[in-house]
Amino acid sequence: MTVPVDLAHHVRDNALEIAWADGLRVRLPVPLLRGWCPCATCQGHAPGLRFHDHGDAITLGHAEEVGAYALGLRFSDGHDSGIFSWSFLRALAEGREPQRV
Ligand SMILES: [Zn+2]
Repeated sequence: MTVPVDLAHHVRDNALEIAWADGLRVRLPVPLLRGWCPCATCQGHAPGLRFHDHGDAITLGHAEEVGAYALGLRFSDGHDSGIFSWSFLRALAEGREPQRV
């Protein structure tokens, strides 16, 4: 699996840019990331993941690597329990619907 080699938070564009080891470089809008938050609070326990619209005003407060496999994101609504794995982020970067991991 390809892994991110660089991250950049573009505050004005409200997007997180991820550069991958295989050369793909994609800006993911912060509201998109918030909407796909994979945590149990956001997704419940139904099979599959769903996008939940939290509006376009949501911004990113903080991002940090979790282990060597994921990003933990804190959003402007205070929500910070989502763990965004590399494979999950890669699916979003390729325009696919992310799967539970
Ligand atoms: Zn969540």
